[in-house]
Amino acid sequence: MKIQVLRNATTLLSVGGHRILVDPMLSEPGALPGFKVFGGGRRPNPLVPLPATAAAALAQATAVLVTHEHPDHFDRPGLDFARRRGLTVWASPVDAPNLRRKGLDARELRDGVLGMAVEVVPSRHGRGLLGWLMGPVAGVYLAHPDEPSLYVVGDSVLTDAVLDAIDRLQPDVILAPAGAANMGLGGDILFSLDELVALARRAPGEIVFNHLEALDHCPTTRAGLAARLAAEGLLERTRIPADGEELVFETRKAPHRRPRSTAAPAGGAQKWITARFAGT
Ligand SMILES: [Zn+2]
Repeated sequence: MKIQVLRNATTLLSVGGHRILVDPMLSEPGALPGFKVFGGGRRPNPLVPLPATAAAALAQATAVLVTHEHPDHFDRPGLDFARRRGLTVWASPVDAPNLRRKGLDARELRDGVLGMAVEVVPSRHGRGLLGWLMGPVAGVYLAHPDEPSLYVVGDSVLTDAVLDAIDRLQPDVILAPAGAANMGLGGDILFSLDELVALARRAPGEIVFNHLEALDHCPTTRAGLAARLAAEGLLERTRIPADGEELVFETRKAPHRRPRSTAAPAGGAQKWITARFAGT
């Protein structure tokens, strides 16, 4: 299995013959509005361009996977790319119908698709009312029989559901967002540094951090995160790739755990509100 973080959450995942483009935000720098609402520091996003290797990576894509419909995970150029290339877009049962309405070949992630054991693990994109307003997010466990298993956590704060998924599924690799996003309004909407440390301690295998240094409301730096993980004695099994860097994983510790039937993220009014602000 290979994981190539392109920028923010946009990642090319090579697994079992698939080249799955996760959460494509393909906009030029500054093409999206700032996400920081209060407290200063609002700047147009993304802050940095895609790496030079992105074009070659995108050309390989055989499918798209969207964890949720926020513009830093699926923007207009990302949608146009999927549509132009005729790529199937895999998403949770709450997001897939909305993506189909946009003219995409969107299908629901469930156990057995793509030749893999699959479980959707609901994530929570913040706490309280703010977390609710941020809408549903799908974490995704993917286990191909010939590859290490992977848990893509998606945008989340630390919850019992996330910790339970780690304990139960024992993923060989975890991919988690580390930007500690905060809009200057309410609490953090992504794992805080303390929560990232707790997540890394809980991880049975390696953990890869993305969602870094690309957006105005994500203050964590790679250097700052590495320093904290080093101080906690966790650097050895954590990876903080540069944009475009490709990581290779070969180790499978044990037979893959079986997923349980998918507990889909909540839909209803929460999804309806988010869809109005999806930006695509
Ligand atoms: Zn995000």
